[in-house]
This record gives sequence, structure tokens and C-alpha cells, in this order.
Amino acid sequence: MTIAIEEVFPNSHHRLCLWHIMKKIPAKFGGHAQYKMIKKQLKNIVYNSLTIDECDENWLKMIEEFNLENNDWLKSLHEERHRWIPVYVKDNFWAGMSTSQRSESMNAFFDDYVHSKTSLKQFVEQYDNALKKKIENEKHLDFVSFNSTMPLILGYPIERQFQNAYTNNLFKLFQDEIRGLMFCDASLLKEEGTTLIFEVVETILGKNGEPVREVSFRVHYMELDCKLKCMCRLFEFQGILCRHVIKVLIRMKVTEVPMNYIMDRWRKDFKRGYQSISNIYDDFVCDGERHRYNILTPLIQEIQQLGAKNDDNCSMLVEILKDTKEKLIVNGLEHSRVEQLQGVSTYDSKAIHSPLKVRSRGRPPTKRKQSKD
Ligand SMILES: [Zn+2]
Repeated sequence: MTIAIEEVFPNSHHRLCLWHIMKKIPAKFGGHAQYKMIKKQLKNIVYNSLTIDECDENWLKMIEEFNLENNDWLKSLHEERHRWIPVYVKDNFWAGMSTSQRSESMNAFFDDYVHSKTSLKQFVEQYDNALKKKIENEKHLDFVSFNSTMPLILGYPIERQFQNAYTNNLFKLFQDEIRGLMFCDASLLKEEGTTLIFEVVETILGKNGEPVREVSFRVHYMELDCKLKCMCRLFEFQGILCRHVIKVLIRMKVTEVPMNYIMDRWRKDFKRGYQSISNIYDDFVCDGERHRYNILTPLIQEIQQLGAKNDDNCSMLVEILKDTKEKLIVNGLEHSRVEQLQGVSTYDSKAIHSPLKVRSRGRPPTKRKQSKD
């Protein structure tokens, strides 16, 4: 799989499921006299390391302390550490995923549509139906997010900014960080040029709410362009600002975070490209936007492949795309200004449907889960 993934998805990061690795500990060490101690230390290294150095140092200590130098399982896991230990992977965006739970729920999702007797032809058709259902569910959730507002906890302007931008499910995750603020204490450590370095000490609570330990996080804050970086890397990993960064923002009296900290993919008003790609069995008339997507998608995919061929192509394409993006934004602004002056709605009336109406489009529901031979 590793070789195939590198070849087919050269720009992807291949990871191993953390859950599947950790659940093997009893089978691998159950017979060991110091099983409980090994398990405790391994879990501490995997889940609590804040830096790669700390992780490597404690791993070596564990190997020495329990004489595990010849343990092949640990040896191979250590060789592959960049594929599974959280501290090694948290600089990349993973939408918060550490385990294969989502692909497993995806399996369950397809179970409704395909079974062991499904023919290849039926599978293609059912795959299409399953995908369509997924897109409908996403649109429904966006609709719910637009029509029901989650209450604020603290009422800070930053909290309001995320309340307006994010879908309810993602705003819930952001609010978990807001709740965590009360267990954090920030103090300015030092200044390096225009960068302020804060220490944010978080009190970690146990299962019954009792304080278990204190963890110290460093937050770098570049005041000029409001850039922030916390060593917990929650934003890089999941796209959610962490409590430590929020603590510093509030302390610095920042009332609005730059747009690059509001991720497009978590926005309730973000148009996801694949939602507009037509379904191969759709027989309803395409609206204007869908038609435009159908023209653009194959062309863009072809350009992307050419751009990825070598560094020259890639940098040339990046420059062209940046320039084109600017022009399209300006053009879009002019377009909506003209329409406003003419009193024309910027929405295509055909594109607005209630979720129920959307659900009833296409193939009749009774035929969705069966297919003809
Ligand atoms: Zn943090």
C-alpha cells in the first residue's frame, strides 16, 4: 500500500491508524512482567509528547528501562514513527483525524447500498446514489447551520466571528476551546524582534474533573500581521484555533482574527466543488452553476496535472492562478454591484430549493436502493 500510495497520490501523506496500533499493546506485551508500566509509558509518549525531541528521548528511555531493544514490533513502529505518532504528524492538516474511524463509518455508509451479491454495474450505480445522498446530507446540515444559531458562551467578538462563519458542528468544537480558556493562564515570556512569545499553562483535568497535571505551551504571536503558532498545533492538525492561542488573542485585545484562521472547508457558506458535479444518472435539467462547473472541472483537472509535472510548470501555474484569482474577485465584485444597481437579485432563483425539495429530485426514492440488471 505504501508504495502504491506514493505513486498514485504523490502529494498525500500516508498515515497508520493510531487506534489499531494502540489496541495491539495487550497482545504484544500482555505476557511481560512489567506490562502495566510499559503500557503506561508508551501511552504517555504517544499521547502527551509536545515535541519530537521529548518523544524520541522518552522512547529511548523506555526501550532501555524495559530491555526492549530486540522487540521487532516496537522497532518497526519506531521506524515508521512519522506515520503515526501524533507529535510527528500534527504539522499537517488532517481535519482532526487520528484513526480510521471515518473510513470505517464510510464502510457502514456504503453497506446500505452495496452487498456481497452486488454486480459491478450495480456497484457503479449505487456508488453514485450513495455519493448523492452524502451531498444531500451535507447541504441539509449547511441549511440547518444557517437557520439555527448556537448561543455564545463568553460573547467575545472572536467567538461571534466563528459563530457567523462556521457550521454548527465545527462551532461546537471551537466552543470546546472557549470552555477550556478557564483552565489556561497566559504570561509573556520574552520578545524576539516583533514576535511575542507567551507561555500558556493549562491545567489538565481527570475523569472526575479533578486537576491532574499542568502542561506548559509556547505561543508565538507576530503582532504585525497577527500570525500565531502554538506548539500544540491544533490549528495545523484540525483547523480549529486552540485555547492557548485564543487566550493570547484575548490578552492582546484582538477583536477579529485574520481570514486565514477561518478555514473555508468549515464554513457554512462555502460552496464545495463536488456538490455541483453532476451525478451520472441525473436526468433533471442542469442549472447555470452546475453547467459552469461541468465546463470548468475537466479543464482545471487537466491544468493541475500539467502544473504538477515539474517545478517550472508548478511555479508558472501558481503565478497565473494568483493573478486570475485577483481578477475574478474584482470581476465578481463589479458584477454584484451592477446587479444591485439594476435591482436584480444575485441569487439564481432556480438554485434555491428547500432541503425537502432537493431530496426529492432525481431518481424516485423507491428505486434508489435497487438497480436493474
Ligand atoms: Zn495550543
